[in-house]
Amino acid sequence: MDWKKERVLVVGAGISGIAAAKLLKKFGAEVSLSDAKKREDISFDLAELEKAGVGLELGPQTEALLEGVTRVLVSPAVPVKIPLIQAAYKRGIRVESEIEFAYELAEAPIYAVTGTNGKTTTTTLLGLLMETVYPVVGVGGNIGVPFCEEVLRAGKKGCTVAEISSYQLEATEHFRPKAAAILNVTPDHVVRHGSLEVYQQMKEKIFAQQTKDDFVVLNYDNEPTRSMADRAPSTVCFFSRLEKLEQGAFVENGELVMRWNGVTHRILPVNELKIKGGHNVENALAACAVAFLAGAKPERMAEVLRSFEGVEHRIEPVTEVDEVMYYNDSKATNTDSAIKALESFPDGHVILIAGGDDKMTDLTEFMQLVKKNCDAVILVGDAAARFKEAALSNGIEAEKLYEAGYSMEKAVDIAHKIARPPQTVLLSPACASFDMFTGFEERGRVFKELVRRLKK
Ligand code: ADP
Repeated sequence: MDWKKERVLVVGAGISGIAAAKLLKKFGAEVSLSDAKKREDISFDLAELEKAGVGLELGPQTEALLEGVTRVLVSPAVPVKIPLIQAAYKRGIRVESEIEFAYELAEAPIYAVTGTNGKTTTTTLLGLLMETVYPVVGVGGNIGVPFCEEVLRAGKKGCTVAEISSYQLEATEHFRPKAAAILNVTPDHVVRHGSLEVYQQMKEKIFAQQTKDDFVVLNYDNEPTRSMADRAPSTVCFFSRLEKLEQGAFVENGELVMRWNGVTHRILPVNELKIKGGHNVENALAACAVAFLAGAKPERMAEVLRSFEGVEHRIEPVTEVDEVMYYNDSKATNTDSAIKALESFPDGHVILIAGGDDKMTDLTEFMQLVKKNCDAVILVGDAAARFKEAALSNGIEAEKLYEAGYSMEKAVDIAHKIARPPQTVLLSPACASFDMFTGFEERGRVFKELVRRLKK
């Protein structure tokens, strides 16, 4: 590819857009970067780009930006339906996502993970499993590391593992991973894609270019995902937490197993997994299936699984204080995620810290589970009043409810005061965090810091 002849417009000044702009410039392309925001509203330092000779086009995105442009590289945060991208399509300009750009640069196999939930956990685990097969493993994509940089790092000898969101698949046509896992498809992000069908079609683009030599790993327990088998051009491998399969990854006699070509490989007893909850058994099965198909040995996989503690902010064990264990699940920014977290503590006795920036979704199912699994609930943030009302109307006693206003410190103090073994303290807010924090990461770190301070 002779990049020197290309004039590229990168749309969206996010992590991956900026990384791609820098790389393209290095390859000799003429590059400009457009973002609808004003300079002062962009959280990235753009000076380095300017120094490298990338033209900055901030503010209104008019069609004039497309003059002379041979390619448009669109960031995942930018929907392809905006007028600028539609105009590019009309002019016949090639429009691609950063994933597609990275794919063009790749010299080694790519393994990809998508789905509504569980992507980061599965991608991270898969990256570690792949280290038992390849000398260099790049892990990137939606996980927050630019995929194009990881692809270069992997070179010819390594491999890459990509976390892919449905947004990243919008402007992706040629991408062909060696194996792709689709974890689940549930109604989320339907707003951007318009309907569940379109969202599902978007996910299917991950395998659209595959052939029988490639693999697609699908969740047998999730109907929309299972039915994709009929449309996949690649070799299908199912995984299932609930059923024994003729072929694929599943649970048998309390063990994770992989049955392939008539041979059953035992991997690890489920109770030796450090990551908690049934959803994490699914994530482990999916990652094992991909790794096995890439050549990983079950014994080596077992070593990795035994030590994998999960990803920060996802039911992350913090520490024990006075024989009570504290968990940080700050990533649970909606009720679905918080439900998964509560289901991971089937013995109940949870002291739950919840609330924050309210997503205004229905709380019935969540509160029913809170009623069953929680001994107390400590409410914070904007959502506190509505959550309290929903708790009461779902039959949770008023004396089990506490309020900590906009203070995580107060919430942790209350939890510490009331928690006794065998109770567990769990931060799983079921809300976004922007009323009190810059994001779920900050919320989780503040929580962990406050919990660790209790020990001093
Ligand atoms: P993603 O990257 O897709 O957002 P994560 O691995 O970051 O997924 O997990 C986010 C939250 O989603 C977790 O805290 C958990 O509550 C929930 N979750 C994780 N894995 C699954 C799964 N396989 N099915 C359903 N929910 C899941």
